[in-house]
Formats: sequence, C-alpha cells, structure tokens
Amino acid sequence: AIPLVVAINTSLAARNGMLVRDRIAMEQARDLDTIVFDKTGTLTEGEQGVVEIETVDDVTEDEALALAAAVEGDSEHMIAEAIRDASDERGVAVQNASGFEAIKGRGVRASVAGETVYVGGPNLLAQLDSEVPSELTEFADRAGENAQTVVYLVRDEEPIAAFSLADVIREESYRVVDALHELGIEVAMLTGDSEDVAHAVAEELGIDTVFAEILPEDKDKKVSELQEQGKLVAMVGDGVNDAPALTRADIGIAIGSGTDVAVQSADIILVQNNPLDVVRLVKLSKASYRKMQ
Ligand code: ADP
Ligand code: MG
Repeated sequence: AIPLVVAINTSLAARNGMLVRDRIAMEQARDLDTIVFDKTGTLTEGEQGVVEIETVDDVTEDEALALAAAVEGDSEHMIAEAIRDASDERGVAVQNASGFEAIKGRGVRASVAGETVYVGGPNLLAQLDSEVPSELTEFADRAGENAQTVVYLVRDEEPIAAFSLADVIREESYRVVDALHELGIEVAMLTGDSEDVAHAVAEELGIDTVFAEILPEDKDKKVSELQEQGKLVAMVGDGVNDAPALTRADIGIAIGSGTDVAVQSADIILVQNNPLDVVRLVKLSKASYRKMQ
C-alpha cells in the first residue's frame, strides 16, 4: 500500500503542476545535494535571434544568410529557426538544398549547388578540423564576451561566415538559483553551448559548477561524475538531448512543453514550464518528510 503521507504529497504536487511518475524520487528531493540544469530553453528562454553576421573575402552577409538558411531548412533546432527568421526579415532568396543531415550536438549539413555546406558550432569545426580565418575568430571572441552563441557556415571545407545569436536568461532563473542556495543545494549547468556563453550565463546567475561543450551522448556522464562524489543529484531539462541525463540522475525532472522523450525519461514533470517549480518541489518534499517523523 502507498503510505498516506506520500499519497497526499502526490496529489498536492499535481495541484501544483507537478506530475509525479516516481514517488521515491519525489521523496528523495528533500535530500538533494546538487541540481543540474540544462541551459538552453530551461534557464534561458531558448528563443534566439541573429545579432550580427561576419563574412570572409567577397562573401556578402545576404549570401551567407541565404546559404545558411538553405542548410537549416529542415532543422527544428532553435538556431535554425533564428537563421530562417533572419533571412525572412532581410528578404533574401534562399537557395535549394537537399540531403539534409543533423550532426547531433554539433550542427547540420546539406548539399547546395553541388557543394557540401555545414552550419554548426565550435564542436563542428573541431570535428571537421577546419582552420578558422582570423576575422571569424575575432568575431567569435567578441560575441563570446557578450554571452552570445556563435555558429559558422562552412562551404567546401572552408569556414566562410559566422553568425552571433543572443538568447535571454529567464527572469525566474535568478530567483531559482538564490532559493536553491538558501536550501543548501548546489546548482550546476550542463550545456552543449560554448565555454564562453556557458560561463557568462553561470556568472550572471551565480551558478556553482559549469559543464560546457558537452555532446548529447556525454551529458549523462557529467551527472555520474557528481554522483561518484557521493552527491544526490537531480537533473532538469527539456530536450531530447537531456533524456539520458534525466534517466541517470537520482531525480529526473522534465520541464514545460518538454519533448516526449524528455517527459518519458523523467521521474517528475513540471507542467507549467516555470523553473521556480523546482524550488517548490524541493520544499514540498521537505514539508512532507517533516510530517512523517
Ligand atoms: P544545448 O545543450 O544548449 O541544448 P544542443 O546540444 O542542442 O545544445 O546543441 C549544441 C551545439 O551544437 C549548439 O550550441 C550549436 O553550436 C550546435 N548545433 C546544434 N544544432 C544546430 C543547428 N541546427 N544549427 C547550427 N548549430 C547547431
Ligand atoms: Mg535544451
């Protein structure tokens, strides 16, 4: 039989927009040492906009945008949406592309006018082993200092343009970090985005530990590392990429309109897409525990 207190706590949780799939996880939340948050779409709005474009040689900004929008034509990533929006706004004629392929945690590839063209982050450049022209490196450094994400356009093995994109930190995220610290819980952030962006966001929010440039298949390893230090760890995320880490964590928390995969991997689902519900969840768990004693 389900202990009465736990039953109460689950229905109370439901009234607060928390769907508890694993009651043990709900109970364990009172003892958490560390909560790991996915960055994009969880601590930040996840809606990015293109801020600036830098190109090499005689490539124009509009040409770069047209080519990038073509390659991103089939991608659901928010970076792809931002690039397509920017090309719409400027009214550039997007070229035809075929053979779309997503390169997980790195970028996308497609074939345009007989050439292989990529759009992706620093991870992708590392994989392609491309040499980045100094004008693009300088552009990326400047953008990084401003906590902006940078993706590159690579044609015929050569990086020919870079785009800086800005996301905004959610208002609630500031209060989440403060409240968790008050509860004695350490806050970590896990992201596929660059070290520069990750550290700028972490510093702004007062986050204790940062794991940046982490490939989707490695996200769960970072959760394990914390667990090996003897910590009870919760993971909060929304994306397909977060699913293995949600499964690995002692408490997996899917947030908001999270993807089906994230929801199926989680112990608790926060329906309202409000990171402050993580704090409510811990407080609810602690309050129920006191009643049991
Ligand atoms: P996060 O962990 O922040 O949610 P992802 O794992 O989805 O990030 O992506 C990691 C990185 O891979 C992005 O920051 C970006 O550099 C690159 N990337 C992924 N998908 C795309 C895409 N469609 N277009 C351009 N870059 C991409
Ligand atoms: Mg995400």
